Amino acid sequence: MAEKSSRNSMNFIENIIDDDLKNNRFGGRVHTRFPPEPNGYLHIGHAKSICLNFGLAEKYGGLCNLRFDDTNPSKEEEEYVRSIIEDVRWLGFDWGERLYFASDYFEQMYEYAIELIKAGKAYVDDLSPEEIREYRGTLTEPGKESPYRNRTVEENLDLFKRMRAGEFPDGSKVLRAKIDMSSPNLNMRDPVMYRILHARHHRTGDKWCIYPMYDWAHGLEDSIEGITHSICTLEFEDHRPLYDWFLEQLNVYHPRQIEFARLNLSYTVMSKRKLLRLVQEGYVNGWDDPRMPTISGLRRRGYTPEAIRDFAERIGVSKSNSMVDIALLEHCLREDLNKRAPRRMAVLRPLKVVIENYPEGRVEELEAINNPEDLSMGTRTIPFSREIYIEQEDFKEDPPRKYFRLAPGREVRLKHAYIIKCEKVIKDEKTGEIIELRCTYDPATKSGEGQDGRKVKGTLHWVSIPHALKAEIRLYDHLFLKENPDDVEEGQDFTVNINPNSLIVIQSYVEPSLADAKPGDRFQFLRQGYFCVDPDTTAEKLVFNRTVPLRDTWAKIEKKLQQNK
Ligand code: ATP
Ligand code: MG
Repeated sequence: MAEKSSRNSMNFIENIIDDDLKNNRFGGRVHTRFPPEPNGYLHIGHAKSICLNFGLAEKYGGLCNLRFDDTNPSKEEEEYVRSIIEDVRWLGFDWGERLYFASDYFEQMYEYAIELIKAGKAYVDDLSPEEIREYRGTLTEPGKESPYRNRTVEENLDLFKRMRAGEFPDGSKVLRAKIDMSSPNLNMRDPVMYRILHARHHRTGDKWCIYPMYDWAHGLEDSIEGITHSICTLEFEDHRPLYDWFLEQLNVYHPRQIEFARLNLSYTVMSKRKLLRLVQEGYVNGWDDPRMPTISGLRRRGYTPEAIRDFAERIGVSKSNSMVDIALLEHCLREDLNKRAPRRMAVLRPLKVVIENYPEGRVEELEAINNPEDLSMGTRTIPFSREIYIEQEDFKEDPPRKYFRLAPGREVRLKHAYIIKCEKVIKDEKTGEIIELRCTYDPATKSGEGQDGRKVKGTLHWVSIPHALKAEIRLYDHLFLKENPDDVEEGQDFTVNINPNSLIVIQSYVEPSLADAKPGDRFQFLRQGYFCVDPDTTAEKLVFNRTVPLRDTWAKIEKKLQQNK
């Protein structure tokens, strides 16, 4: 057995696996699978399942398959298959040669169904879908047996073969397991195994017009692939007796199903149906919109696979549903990016500063460390000149208490450069808006030269106006205003909770070393946050996504001050 991760204590699934290994239940093997249905893009909840399944295989020196559970032709598409493969790979997992499709097992599943019919354990039912629902009963009332339940084996075989041959229209017949219409578990009340659906499948084309239902198909897929531990989410706990029943009746290799709690994240919807609505109804710009909780959205936003894997490990696995604070995901990201994102300077909302005693036309190349957390990332140079931009919010004409940035008559340090002093404020005559500051600098205070006797409390980032590059910056906030987006009044749905300010686009300036930044490159913009180059970037225009802001300590202080007023 491979060594366990030192970080996490054992989770309950590992305890089960350890027991199975001790009892030699699966011949010492650990073989898991990640079984997405290709009917949407993967999201952060899937990432939890991916990390769990591939992670267990890794820890125990076992295997993990990537298997497309493509049993429903009406909602599935090739595009989703491609995106899922890309996303699992990007997360850093490898399924070797073991990329499988449930549709490759359709013939085998059909043979198994014939076996059950021959054993008198499955029958063709002519009840309509509505009637089947009515006959099913409720949690408190037993179901009723279908009048077609006691067809002979011969008749069932004949009808099932003709179902496959396409003789019957959609919805006119189904194949059902013959179990127990009075079972306290509704899933055991003669569940449907096959339905008729004359629909083109993205892989099998028109070969089939009967398609297997999830509960029938899933255990067979696991069995065929020799899976040892079939890990699924909690809502399948009540389906486990059925999973076991099918495999027992067929007397085939029998994996063990284990259920765990799905991930719910605050301020986020996770159901594929809702994500599809966000895309189709234009609330976001596609599946990879950086506000989406999809893997492709997170990737475009600037998330790293390492941060997502770390998050998955920290939340662990449990048996009870709960809501995880999205701040934890952001925390994992900051921790990772802090170690490896090169630092750069960018002024998001510019305010012009003219340094009056700095010679016109002079340019100094100042040296700047790329990452104080990792000196091996080296240094770069940044041009400094007489005219610079600083952040609008870094100047206040009437500074409140504890505001240590620039104000009339005050001094601040310009990062990597000099101490400047604000001498004069220039305003727009009509609007009164501050449009420019006149400052002076102290040539004896150049950064890194150790002659800086004066202490100043504030250090500002800046860019040199003649050298700065224009950049479009996309600032993101949570896509939903409520922690639980489904918290709505009667008659409303989750879309009423969409945050109208989840995307704000601003035109900004960045330092010139970013000229050859490539889509996907990640940076920390000093004092602002982490940013990632968006694929919309062209030779003419840089576009950055704000991945996550740095913790905003000033906002906290400001809040406190307001509370104390
Ligand atoms: P739907 O949203 O359509 O019900 P699904 O989210 O279950 O579908 P699948 O493609 O069937 O999507 O999921 C593949 C695997 O990912 C399953 O094993 C499922 O249990 C797991 N999974 C899906 N959502 C979550 C989640 N939020 N947390 C953890 N695992 C999840
Ligand atoms: Mg599912």
